[in-house]
Amino acid sequence: MEKILRGVVEFRKHDFEKHKALFRKLGKKQQPHTLFIGCSDSRVDPNLITRSLPGELFIIRNIANIIPQYRESGEYLATTSAVEYAIQALNVQHIVICGHSNCGGCAALYLPENAFQTMPHTQRWLEQAKVVRQRVELNPEAADPAAREWLTEQENVVQQMKNLLSYPFIRERYKAGTLKIHGWYYIIRSGQVLAYNIEKGYFEEME
Ligand SMILES: [Zn+2]
Repeated sequence: MEKILRGVVEFRKHDFEKHKALFRKLGKKQQPHTLFIGCSDSRVDPNLITRSLPGELFIIRNIANIIPQYRESGEYLATTSAVEYAIQALNVQHIVICGHSNCGGCAALYLPENAFQTMPHTQRWLEQAKVVRQRVELNPEAADPAAREWLTEQENVVQQMKNLLSYPFIRERYKAGTLKIHGWYYIIRSGQVLAYNIEKGYFEEME
């Protein structure tokens, strides 16, 4: 804790001073260009991997970067309201859905029921990605555990891109070309970010 308390003081002294004009401007309003959806994993830092500053990314983070399918219900409001607000109130022009390597949430899709005895909320949340596991298990390559891991993480990104399009206000803007959806896969140990190529149907390195 001492480390982060010291960080707060140092931030004010150095980083804040460096970007003082920006913070003054941001003090009045935000106008982010991108809704960034990532995993809660401590190793996935949206601002760090995109070298972006405060005010640029509106961020949603949850276990396994999941976007619930659109439905009118009171479930999962923390996530669905943030999606709604980013589009309808902030008018972001881009949505990035970013999965990552070594994702504990994606790995948990293969755990037995009894592994969740003390984590019923996590279990219920991850049920939303069951379809990802089902699809990966149809792939013969998934017989190899290492391949199954990244296949699941990447398939999960593709599934969440589809889920985003189940929101009428997203679908409408996407079709009109005023909103772009990007699927990314961040590899922690190499620092690479792969982008999903919709036409080709696979992830490739960004230029
Ligand atoms: Zn994760």
